[in-house]
Amino acid sequence: MTIAIIAHDGKKAEMVAFIKDHAELLKSRSIELVATGTTGSHLERAGLEVTRFESGPMGGDAQIASRLVEGKVDMVIFFRDPLGKHPHEVDVNMLMRLCDVHNIPLATNQAAAMRFVQTL
Ligand code: PGA
Repeated sequence: MTIAIIAHDGKKAEMVAFIKDHAELLKSRSIELVATGTTGSHLERAGLEVTRFESGPMGGDAQIASRLVEGKVDMVIFFRDPLGKHPHEVDVNMLMRLCDVHNIPLATNQAAAMRFVQTL
C-alpha cells in the first residue's frame, strides 16, 4: 500500500507530531510513503523512508496526482491549511478532485488522518 503525505506550511508542525506518533506503525507494515518535497524532508528527519517529489508549489501535488491516476497511490493524507493562501491551489484542487474520480481515500485534517491510520 502506498500512502501520499502532504502538509501545507501552516500544518507542518501538526503533521510532524502526527507522523512521530505513528512512526512505528508506518514503518512496521508494508507501507510505502510518497510526499511532496518539503513534507518529505520532514518525514526523513523523523526516520521514515519516503519517495520525495517536487515541493508543492513547484508541482509536487501534481506529480502525486499523476501517480494516483496511474493506480500507484492508495491513500492520501493531506494536512491542509484552510486559512492560508497557496500559489498552487489549482494543483491541490486537482489532486482532491482526482481522489474522488478514482475513489482514493483522502484525509484533509488530523482527525480524519487518525481514523485512516487506524485502518492500516
Ligand atoms: P511541500 O508542499 O511539502 O513541498 O511544502 C506541500 C504543499 O504545499 O502542497
